[in-house]
Amino acid sequence: MMLDGIPRGKKIKTHEIVDWRLKIMVLFGTRPEAIKLAPIIHELRQKFFQTIVVSSSQHKELLKPFLKMLDIETDFDLRIMRKNQTPNEVCSKILAKLDKILAEEKPDLILVQGDTTTTLAGALAGFNRQVAVGHVEAGLRSGNLYSPFPEELNRRLVSQIANLHFAATERNRRNLLAEDIPTEKIFVTGNTVVDTLHYILKTLTPSHRIAELVESTEGLKRILLTTHRRESFGERMSENLKVLREFVEKRNDVCLFFPVHPNPNVQEATNEILAGAERIFLLEPLNYKEFIALMKNAWLIVSDSGGVQEEAPSLGKPLFVLRENTERPEAIRAGVAKLVGGNPQTLAKMLEENYTIDTWIKSVSEVSNPFGDGRAARRIVKIIEEKFGIKNKTAGRVQRSLF
Ligand code: UDP
Repeated sequence: MMLDGIPRGKKIKTHEIVDWRLKIMVLFGTRPEAIKLAPIIHELRQKFFQTIVVSSSQHKELLKPFLKMLDIETDFDLRIMRKNQTPNEVCSKILAKLDKILAEEKPDLILVQGDTTTTLAGALAGFNRQVAVGHVEAGLRSGNLYSPFPEELNRRLVSQIANLHFAATERNRRNLLAEDIPTEKIFVTGNTVVDTLHYILKTLTPSHRIAELVESTEGLKRILLTTHRRESFGERMSENLKVLREFVEKRNDVCLFFPVHPNPNVQEATNEILAGAERIFLLEPLNYKEFIALMKNAWLIVSDSGGVQEEAPSLGKPLFVLRENTERPEAIRAGVAKLVGGNPQTLAKMLEENYTIDTWIKSVSEVSNPFGDGRAARRIVKIIEEKFGIKNKTAGRVQRSLF
């Protein structure tokens, strides 16, 4: 069975792999990378490519339920995560460990996604071993090297390394062209998060605990909050949480759901400011189906996440982007999102204004998603086939190098 690029129920055994001509390594380490690479891994397997799936486990605990739900088995787990590591420590460990695997496995292509330290380390490790690098979700730019940190630099550096740039949108393509990335190496494919979202929406049955939560808050305006970005840590995060607490306390027809990220900076601020407050529900990080179910039932989403900005248009949910800037202005242009900026008082003002006059909130509805149409993974795999000269499976010769 094949649903929007995600074939289900098919485990490929080694002896079944028919196309040995190309070996593709896929690397991820965080929750959003797994969500966005899952449809590509399944599409590659569907097409019988030899795939090597590597997890850095940068988000160890967050990742586990996602791999199960998305039906991904890893071939190598780098197990690099320790508490309170710096990006430098994460990067150096991945480089050292991945280098050995690259030397042994000798893939023809390594696919990395997005902008995490795992992404950068994977691209650099590939480059140093002269393995071609494909960058999924290429060309996002905030214009500020320090925000999001360290992701903006990571993605710029990966663009200097990659041989194939899979851009989600036309705007992302233009960003790459402006940095002199050759046009023939850039492909606008859409974002694979939409592929995964479509699949999840088709099979969405909220868990018992989410169904209960939704039922017990019937009639209330539900705010769904996520915040965990490094540049929000400290005073700004504390102030944002205070603003939200005060708003919920003041308005007794409003409640807040907050799946709290395991990062100690988030946990500490949350415990100090939100614990025990009425109509504020502090939750463990949710699996994807649960989170999407809550998004669907939200009155308003407040989030500093990148992925949530890409999902909101498909769900037609109003979103306040809790960041100074966004590298995804497409959601704002689609009328679904508004940028809060870095000042918590602006958040307070925006909450009040949109509570009092809810014209914008009511006007947001499902729009055609500017980030993708659910077919990005298919496009990406097709491009890989073409670039490596595998148009016809029975043809013998394959161009093994993209250099
Ligand atoms: N998400 C989830 N459960 C949660 C919070 C988020 O499944 O409790 C999903 C969300 O739908 C989105 C992704 O995780 O697809 C975003 O991850 P995150 O905010 O960690 O990273 P970012 O997108 O900012 O890189």
